[in-house]
Amino acid sequence: MNKGKQITHIFFDIDFTLVNTDELHRHIISNILHKPSQFPHTANSLFQFFSTPPGTNSVPLFRGTWLDPAEYKKSMYPDVLPALQSMTIMFQLGIFSQSRSPLQRLKIELSGLSSFFRKDLIFIAPHKWSVAKKVLPTLGLEKVAVIDDRIDICNQAAKLGVQSFLIDRENNKIAPKNTIGIQSLTEILTHITS
Ligand SMILES: [Mg+2]
Repeated sequence: MNKGKQITHIFFDIDFTLVNTDELHRHIISNILHKPSQFPHTANSLFQFFSTPPGTNSVPLFRGTWLDPAEYKKSMYPDVLPALQSMTIMFQLGIFSQSRSPLQRLKIELSGLSSFFRKDLIFIAPHKWSVAKKVLPTLGLEKVAVIDDRIDICNQAAKLGVQSFLIDRENNKIAPKNTIGIQSLTEILTHITS
């Protein structure tokens, strides 16, 4: 559909696009419950963590407490790593994530995905589309693809004129107009060319 448009930049959502957030929360809660001796320390670090401003690199502060990188890695969807490894050769990769929490950045850092994304293309904001619609035109709308599990975001992306992909691993959503529905991130490369 988009062949010949020469996509140069691909932006990903985090929750339910790269990371199975339900799975991650289960791992974190289970970790806390099974390590009661660490709990006083954990409670304190949780408090500190959630009072840390978004965007702060807080990984060193909390490494070895309730944030176990292995649990973040296990919560990544299996198609994420192969897809990013192929794409990083041909495209500039970025993030648009909607959150006020520094946990978003940690999800990327602790799951080992940071190196795939350009630091200046990682945008985490309470209203991500307000940021995206300012940033994307500066890159050339016809050169950008956006991947999200949210229909409303895909719809906005398509209306703006960027190539929009709806990731729906359970295949139960209907992609909006001018959006390509995919079940795995590895499908993206069959739709775009560099
Ligand atoms: Mg999401």
